[in-house]
Amino acid sequence: MALYVVPYEHGFLVYRPLKRLAFVANAAMINLIERLRSGAPAGDGASHAAAFLESVGFFDPDPDVDRDGAQARTVAVLCLTTACNLRCTYCYAAAGDAPARTLPLSAGRAAIDEACRNAVAAGAPSFTLAFHGGGEPTMARREMRSLVAYARRRALPCHVTAATNGCWPDADRAWLLDNLDSVSLSCDGAAEVQNAQRPAAGGGASFDAVMKTIRGLDAREKAYGIRLTVTDATVDALPGSVDLLCRESGCASFQVEPAHAAPSASSKPNRGSDTCSEKKNQ
Ligand code: SF4
Repeated sequence: MALYVVPYEHGFLVYRPLKRLAFVANAAMINLIERLRSGAPAGDGASHAAAFLESVGFFDPDPDVDRDGAQARTVAVLCLTTACNLRCTYCYAAAGDAPARTLPLSAGRAAIDEACRNAVAAGAPSFTLAFHGGGEPTMARREMRSLVAYARRRALPCHVTAATNGCWPDADRAWLLDNLDSVSLSCDGAAEVQNAQRPAAGGGASFDAVMKTIRGLDAREKAYGIRLTVTDATVDALPGSVDLLCRESGCASFQVEPAHAAPSASSKPNRGSDTCSEKKNQ
């Protein structure tokens, strides 16, 4: 069962994405869910809450995602590497804390083949190759170039997109701008916010590098969106950050994502969703 329990205001957000089910719950409801999942009885005084869970089919198995149809599988989403050139304070992936791992090319090619095959079967005009995070995909330079070239040689046109921190080496910038059709870029806004929350791996600033990428995207008139992460410490700076990005970029789409403290042993705040991926808080 794909289940997310995320702290929310004075309670929790319970989310079963494959069931398309979400509701706000208190701690007693979370305990009840855990009890029922383990096979224990609901217990005294919980029959009303248990009846609610029953009525929404909460314990039904996840639907078979394959039944969603070929269209849903025309996107090959690849997490290329766990390596990252930033050390964001809220990174759920703990990038850099362990030796980097990189996706084998054979696995990437297999995913691309399947997405293309499904697109052909569905009569779609194209398929998509999406480089995702959990690391910075542009760090896997060799793999990214190889897989983009492979995808471009398939039977249908391929739309190539990437979620990136935008801190691209100058040597790769032109290639990335030439080969990425769209970009989801993480930038937390004003220089002091970006540099504090998203420092370089060596401890330096990252703002200037990201702005250079933004200017490159604008110059090429690329489709891109900017994702800003907000923490308690920086929420007051958010209006100024959005103002700055509106002035300094041609970006038409901003997505603000809150980072929240989770009841875990980690001292870092965890994110409900991140530049790089989704976080399970269970
Ligand atoms: S949040 Fe993304 S960009 Fe930031 S350190 Fe983690 S993997 Fe790197």
